[in-house]
Amino acid sequence: MGTLAIFSIPLKKKIKKKLFMSLLVIGSVAFDAIETPFGETGKIVGGAASYISLATSILHNNVGLVAVVGEDFDMDFVKNLNDRGVDTTGLQIKNGEKSFFWHGKYHMDMNSRDTITTELNVLGDFDPIVPNNWKNPDFVMLGNLSPDVQLKTLERIEARPKMVVLDTMNFWMDIALDTLNEVLQKIDVLTINDEEARQLSGEYSLVKAARVIREMGPKYLIIKKGEHGALLFGEEEEIFFCPALPLEEVFDPTGAGDTFAGGFIGYLAKVGKTDFESMKQAVIYGSAMASFCVE
Ligand code: AMP
Repeated sequence: MGTLAIFSIPLKKKIKKKLFMSLLVIGSVAFDAIETPFGETGKIVGGAASYISLATSILHNNVGLVAVVGEDFDMDFVKNLNDRGVDTTGLQIKNGEKSFFWHGKYHMDMNSRDTITTELNVLGDFDPIVPNNWKNPDFVMLGNLSPDVQLKTLERIEARPKMVVLDTMNFWMDIALDTLNEVLQKIDVLTINDEEARQLSGEYSLVKAARVIREMGPKYLIIKKGEHGALLFGEEEEIFFCPALPLEEVFDPTGAGDTFAGGFIGYLAKVGKTDFESMKQAVIYGSAMASFCVE
């Protein structure tokens, strides 16, 4: 009887977390065209929230998506998300309009890339609708899109989530820095790459950059360094470094950063924790997930 009593406590806790921790994801759901030194694609499904949702759906079963696509979008992909348990009630489909389109070209190192085209299309005037049953999420992942939409989504959430993670890129730093600064004050964790961290902070040293960026709002900062791993900076100058898995096949790194973020927040939502030790574990999950994306 004693054994049963001891056994039943953690079991109950585990079931409760699995059923109740909810994770809301926003970001671009898009068409991409990718060029690498080894080949190129035509229009394929991409977008930050696509990668994030796919990654989180592997770890967690209570995920809702808020995004927008045009009538040209591939609805088989949406069905694939639904089959994986992602609730797409918050995905708007705009008749007569085109989905967001991004064309990127990788350099020989397959780590750095240039943006050839960004066509905002439906993202240009996106007004995010947070469905009623998603207005009190435990975790929020603000994936890459306009800081204005990221801010609006947060304003449409009723209670402060346990954790808000934000991802962004140089494109938004160039054209919407003031709004980005506003969102940074309302989040817990920022994930960006090394180049973006240098641009945002004006510091070359990533340790100095992290200090400057954490003063802008987020308590925690993750700097992604592609094949060189990821750095997690915490309060009181804690630093955790996680190497990337050495890969034999680097097929296409597009979406690796989003997949990393999806693995990171998906793990935290699954265990229902937000302490620094759990975040270290989450970074390892994020790196492992990103390695599958790249391969
Ligand atoms: P990542 O490789 O993780 O940086 O993310 C690549 C994804 O970001 C691609 O699938 C693009 O569709 C998406 N993306 C590129 N530019 C933007 C942008 N300005 N806003 C939102 N998503 C974007």
